[in-house]
Amino acid sequence: MKRILYVGFDQLNSKYGALKDSDPKSDLIVLVESTRMVTGSNWNKVRLYFLISSAHHFANELTDSGFKVIYKKAATTVDGLSEVKKKHADLPIIAATPNSFRLSKALADFGVTFVENDFFLTPKDLFNTWADSQKSYLMENFYRGQRVRLNILVEGGKPVGGAWNFDKENRSPLPKGYKFPPYLEHKPDEIDIEVAKQLGIKPNTTWATSQVGAKKVLKNFLDNHFKNFGPYEDAMTTDNWALHHSLLSPYLNNGLLHPSEVVDAALKRFEKGDIPIQSAEGFIRQIIGWREYVNGMYWYLGQDYKELNHLNGNRKLLPLFTDPEKTKMNCIKTTVSDINQRGWVSHIPRLMLLSNLALITGTNPQQFLQWMREVFIDAADWVMVPNVIGMGVHADNGVMMTKPYAAGGAYISKMSNYCKGCFYDPKLRTGETACPFTTLYWDFLDRNAQQFKGNHRMAQQLFGINRLKDMPEVRHRAKAVLAGLDSGLI
Ligand code: SF4
Repeated sequence: MKRILYVGFDQLNSKYGALKDSDPKSDLIVLVESTRMVTGSNWNKVRLYFLISSAHHFANELTDSGFKVIYKKAATTVDGLSEVKKKHADLPIIAATPNSFRLSKALADFGVTFVENDFFLTPKDLFNTWADSQKSYLMENFYRGQRVRLNILVEGGKPVGGAWNFDKENRSPLPKGYKFPPYLEHKPDEIDIEVAKQLGIKPNTTWATSQVGAKKVLKNFLDNHFKNFGPYEDAMTTDNWALHHSLLSPYLNNGLLHPSEVVDAALKRFEKGDIPIQSAEGFIRQIIGWREYVNGMYWYLGQDYKELNHLNGNRKLLPLFTDPEKTKMNCIKTTVSDINQRGWVSHIPRLMLLSNLALITGTNPQQFLQWMREVFIDAADWVMVPNVIGMGVHADNGVMMTKPYAAGGAYISKMSNYCKGCFYDPKLRTGETACPFTTLYWDFLDRNAQQFKGNHRMAQQLFGINRLKDMPEVRHRAKAVLAGLDSGLI
């Protein structure tokens, strides 16, 4: 053996990272399941099941293809590598650069040599050069550059379909009685059953835990959901947990799928001619735009970014985030229950329900970030830090987003059917049955009016407060709502 190749649980792909030019004759492969990763936080067990079972499947596949593989359980990744190193003191350890500041430092300090992390489409240097050249880091500008650089949905320097972005066409609520094709169920194998047993849960059938399974999910999306993905991208409903979303983020984020294969497959499908451009563009933007941008910003903004708290949010994490029975708000109760069941809801409830609620209640950004990290199957530091601190709760004073994503019940009522079965009324901002989102939306603007005074994108919203005759009553109700949320009674 000549080298030890360390493979992280988020780099499970033999074509990329440390395994790109691996050879069974000379490379010993090591995966480490750290106690820190399993019990270090209050992780959603569905998330642990997915990550651990995927890693076991991947290790077995490598063994089957002739590699010697060590799957080590240890207190930390470095402890695991130390143990392997005791028996192989002369071998260097090689790894793809990890996806977090913390692990990068820990492995570098331990003497691991890094090779390029090519699990993304944008090299860090390239992103940093782009960011350095910007006055404000607008995702849309980055995305257009990506389209041209990667030559995706571009013809003669112009966007296919005549526009870079079809967002305006992609905001339709669902028509009544709309039916979705079924989703794949993944039959658990022996590995899945064993991992679930160790975690004390039933095997989960929502998520695939192998590369073959992940590819089936991709195919199912392209065959059955891609066409209508765009128009209903922002919709929410109690009738269906996944709508037309691809459900690919877990596999992209643990390495089972690579963004280039997802994009290539989507473009190939689009070329058949029956996928509308707004669906193709909306999906491609998530992969080559958002995903790359968020990862680039995580590294560009640095380690201290996650500690920002510009709006001084100091409320403790609301009990409803950890126990859906602690609220009568139908939208939140449904969303948190879905998360507990599958570790997943789409980006819209993440942003417009969960983050919106954390924002307008003045919840501490770091506590909310920690919760988002723990519960989602596809969460990682690089995804959650910019998405929560920058986009979700505006704790960075607008470094990433020019205005906060605050919304009242009217938006949620328009984009979902949650309000129909709710104790609260989205149109009311005062009184016992006033929608907490509606009350707190106005109260949030009122509380932070000074902060947002110079922000011209907030002018219209702030102007709205002046038109409200009942602002004293709204403030009064907001106090009661916040107290009720704190005690789990609203
Ligand atoms: Fe959510 Fe308010 Fe609608 Fe109830 S009324 S579901 S709390 S938005």
